[in-house]
Amino acid sequence: MSQPIEDLRADRDRLWSALMAMAEIGKTALGGCNRPALSDEDRRARDQFVQWAREIGCQIRVDEMGNVFAVRPGTESEAPPVLIGSHLDTQPTGGRFDGVYGVLAGLEVLRVLADRQVDCRRTIEVVSWTNEEGSRFVPAMLGSGVVAGAHTLEFAYDRTDRDGHKFLDELDRIGYRGSAPAQTRRLHAAFEAHIEQGPILERTGTTIGVVTGIQGLEWLDVVLDGVECHAGPTPMEDRRDPWRAACPIIDGAFELAHRNSPWGRATIGDVRVRPGSRNTVPGQLSISVDLRHPQAVTLTQMVAEFHDLVETSARRCHIDFAVQPVWGMPATVFDTRLVDLVETSASSLGYASRRIVSGAGHDSLHVAKFAPTAMIFVPCAGGLSHNEQERAAPEDLEAGANVLLRAVLAAANE
Ligand SMILES: [Zn+2]
Repeated sequence: MSQPIEDLRADRDRLWSALMAMAEIGKTALGGCNRPALSDEDRRARDQFVQWAREIGCQIRVDEMGNVFAVRPGTESEAPPVLIGSHLDTQPTGGRFDGVYGVLAGLEVLRVLADRQVDCRRTIEVVSWTNEEGSRFVPAMLGSGVVAGAHTLEFAYDRTDRDGHKFLDELDRIGYRGSAPAQTRRLHAAFEAHIEQGPILERTGTTIGVVTGIQGLEWLDVVLDGVECHAGPTPMEDRRDPWRAACPIIDGAFELAHRNSPWGRATIGDVRVRPGSRNTVPGQLSISVDLRHPQAVTLTQMVAEFHDLVETSARRCHIDFAVQPVWGMPATVFDTRLVDLVETSASSLGYASRRIVSGAGHDSLHVAKFAPTAMIFVPCAGGLSHNEQERAAPEDLEAGANVLLRAVLAAANE
């Protein structure tokens, strides 16, 4: 190695220029990006990434899911590689940084290594995962999900967008159906840099979020059945009004999240009232519940307590009740050693850091199922994301890339 690792730094202007060049592809009137998965814009973004990677001597590998890997061979070809990556697709009214930053920070790492002619023991790969956002093809994180074995390739190929376009046809159309198998393989370490998409780093004046994991979630539907009756003649004590049970249930759900702060979350996103008439006591309420916590044990406990809460509240008011599980995702706990490595990389560079849990899903959620994984967060203005106004400061993006560079170098030379 010609240069001591401590001297290597990301180039802030080059990283920013790459981000702004990518932001031109699918640019919206309000300064955001609209680059749906497997659209023409997605193809142009992929082409740009591939061109940049080739310019610094990378090999390109595309797998059956259209996941694009820029490969920089290490000196020991048989040693399991280090992976860096995120996604280039965006929400329809997305920002310039969500996902893109993780791919281009990875590219910046490779550019620094190419500039300084640094040889690493392990191969380093930068991946752009297909269809992370899930806004065109449901579900989200599909490319990494198939690789991790969470979905079959056939399931992914069959996904259809709102206009009836099939995933496979669109993948073929943009020319990104590769031949490499979309399946797990041995990785030494995997890293993803991302904007926080929440307010904590900015609010606490912290540059680097050392992400310890991703919250688990449980979706439940609560149905409360009472008896419809007239809003006037029926005395209050004669009613079986499902709202009487719903109020303590909703209040109790928030209390449950509060008791499990700072990471506990409870969201009542949708309530349907039947028949939904101003002067009729409703016969039925359907309430959607979203509970989250990064620790599996705590989340299980929260769900159990919520069941008890529904039962107690409903029985007290003689309301019939049902709680149906709709969907769940287990919490992801990142690799302790890599989390520590991100933390020490940040502190050795003099950046303020704090440990943080991701409230949003990321490709790393799937990667963590088959490889040691960690994430690096940088602040975004007002915690705003999935929004055309999404903003991040060049110096924070640079800091995140520097932490990524240092952590990747350490892992790639182990
Ligand atoms: Zn993202």
